[in-house]
Amino acid sequence: MKEKNWKEIPLGGLILEAGNAEEYETGSWRTYRPIRNEEKCTHCLLCWVYCPDSSIIVEEAKIKEFDYGHCKGCGICSAQCPVNAIEMVEETKFNSKKEGGE
Ligand code: SF4
Ligand code: SF4
Repeated sequence: MKEKNWKEIPLGGLILEAGNAEEYETGSWRTYRPIRNEEKCTHCLLCWVYCPDSSIIVEEAKIKEFDYGHCKGCGICSAQCPVNAIEMVEETKFNSKKEGGE
């Protein structure tokens, strides 16, 4: 493979193509996992509005599930929920990153 000179290497942190976040499984960064209590949830959708990673899946105006492949575990959904229906649980409590998710 031909070595690149410094002028051919992209600048650090440069995003060459916009709109590619979905391709990266950022869920592996998570240390806390949001768990929704179905009985408490009123489907007000506030968590969906505030989630910075669009990781809350809604179908027919109701929360369906979390997209654990992309949820980074920031906890904003839990902090915004008016009825405390989302608990942030340590990832170490689960057997795998995918358990309870996708
Ligand atoms: S903010 Fe809370 S009550 Fe509203 S949809 Fe989300 S989990 Fe349910
Ligand atoms: S923890 Fe953060 S990224 Fe994950 S669903 Fe809640 S608001 Fe979205």
